[in-house]
Amino acid sequence: EESLWAKGLEIVCKLEENGHKAYLVGGCVRDRMLGRSLNDIDIATSGRPEDVISLFEKTLPTGLKHGTVTVREDGQSFEVTTFRQETGYSDGRRPDEVLFVQDVKEDLARRDFTFNAMAVGMDGEIVDPFGGQDALRAGVVACVGEASERFGEDALRMLRAIRFAAEFDFLLLPEVWAGILKQRSKLKHVAMERISNEWDKMMAGSGPEQACHYLFKSGLLAHVKEELPEAILSAAERYRFNELSWEWEASLSTVGSLSNDFLQLPLIADVDLRWAALLSGMSADQETGIEFCRALHLSSRRTTRIAEVVGFNEKLSAFEEHELRVGWIKLALAYGSSIAEDWLVMNEACEEPLFEARGWLEELPITSVSELKLRGNELSSLLGKSPGPWITTLLQQLLEEVAFERVTNEKKSLVSAAKSLVGNLKS
Ligand code: ATP
Ligand code: MG
Repeated sequence: EESLWAKGLEIVCKLEENGHKAYLVGGCVRDRMLGRSLNDIDIATSGRPEDVISLFEKTLPTGLKHGTVTVREDGQSFEVTTFRQETGYSDGRRPDEVLFVQDVKEDLARRDFTFNAMAVGMDGEIVDPFGGQDALRAGVVACVGEASERFGEDALRMLRAIRFAAEFDFLLLPEVWAGILKQRSKLKHVAMERISNEWDKMMAGSGPEQACHYLFKSGLLAHVKEELPEAILSAAERYRFNELSWEWEASLSTVGSLSNDFLQLPLIADVDLRWAALLSGMSADQETGIEFCRALHLSSRRTTRIAEVVGFNEKLSAFEEHELRVGWIKLALAYGSSIAEDWLVMNEACEEPLFEARGWLEELPITSVSELKLRGNELSSLLGKSPGPWITTLLQQLLEEVAFERVTNEKKSLVSAAKSLVGNLKS
């Protein structure tokens, strides 16, 4: 941590020794002032990319067009970018022209928020022309320049504003909020991957509920490039928050004890389960979950997991209180123990979790067909039927029989259970 910053300073020194101006800039300066852990170090310099490449042993040309070279030192990456200005954002997402400049202050002027527009030099001097330190002290998100204009240049900044406000528990200045309301339709110019990446960071961060609150209240979601499921958009509009505690009022939801409940997203460590909780809190079903995750371009692996947890939760809501145990176990067997475990973790973030469910899972003699002492291909020859989808169905039934301890997990009893189940099917 300390060493990352120190190594960044070494790079700054080396650039200065070779006649270039250089500073640590942006997020790392902000995070250091806030006492937060640093994720990446950005360096700005008057040196040109070719100067940087010739000065350091290991470099990668990661963004030459924008003046960025990645310097590798001791297995760590440092982004070194030539001071630059940006002009003419005619498409609302990227500058038409990048212009290299000589003064760090000109470079800072292109940055989005005042607390992201500070630089620290090799002797520790702070360059803060827009009052970034004041904003940090006051706990506010303020734009460099006129908010609505800056959001018009690059619509992603609206999401960044929300992310920082939620992450640091800062206030969006009234003109920043007004700028978002004015420019929100420009979000349609932003690639879905970038939107998704920001929202995902918000969900993983320390203020996912505040972030969603701002996202929903701003009306931004209606303007994302790829349409989100109607069910989610309308739920977002109806969503109620407990403004005082920022707890997620999952009153529509069935997460937990099938009653009105508060759901606290920060209690869930895994970001995908936070997504599942968000969607469950909006009464989404599995299909809606899939549609939503696909619209956000989440990986298929994440999509499946999130949607299955959502589906598990939604199907559970169909059971009456007295059938809850049986229903829960059936779902655990259908979805598998890993999704059942995920549901339990999500459920524990509720005000009244269904604590017994963990015991139900632990008491099951087996949780998957792979543990059955009878294989699918054996079934086929034993019953003299050609293989087909019936095998999967039958194995799943046998799994339930064993899980509910109506049949023991031994070949002989499984075979006879299989025979009678197939007999039942025929009749
Ligand atoms: P984090 O790394 O926590 O996401 P960050 O502020 O470091 O936050 P980066 O995307 O790493 O964000 O960008 C580094 C710096 O580049 C920012 O601090 C800001 O000065 C500038 N910057 C990034 N994105 C934009 C943007 N869309 N508009 C203007 N400046 C930006
Ligand atoms: Mg950063």
